[in-house]
Amino acid sequence: MPDWEPHGLRFTCTRCSNCCRHESGYVFLSEEDISRFSEGLSLDRRSFLDAYCKQVDLGLVRRISLKEQENFDCVFFIDGRCSVYPIRPLQCRSYPFWPSVVASREAWDAESSHCPGINIGRRHSNETVLDWLIRRREEPLVEE
Ligand code: SF4
Ligand code: SF4
Repeated sequence: MPDWEPHGLRFTCTRCSNCCRHESGYVFLSEEDISRFSEGLSLDRRSFLDAYCKQVDLGLVRRISLKEQENFDCVFFIDGRCSVYPIRPLQCRSYPFWPSVVASREAWDAESSHCPGINIGRRHSNETVLDWLIRRREEPLVEE
């Protein structure tokens, strides 16, 4: 909960797509994400994981992330846009209202160097931000 900003956080996506391409990174999935993808792409769970996902060893835990293309674009970033937008993972839908990003004014402002939509446009209430944080807690990432 961003209690350091009582009036809510300003964010409007500029659709620059920085968060979908160029840099190597992880898009970790929850079990709900995998189910939504499997249904949306008409694949069984195993086929979806084999085609579009990779395991990431984080030491204490292994998580499942979407694969990247050779140029580090997300596997689903095709023809200049997210090709799975209606069924994109919670990690994508909840951005930038992630626990680490809303933890402090410093963290929020630092994230704006990656995302030009932060600190511009629409103001999102703390209740809205809290809803995203709760949703992420209720929909944990898959650990293997
Ligand atoms: S980096 Fe920020 S502004 Fe750019 S597409 Fe992602 S969320 Fe939108
Ligand atoms: S699933 Fe879509 S929104 Fe998420 S990183 Fe990939 S291209 Fe971007």
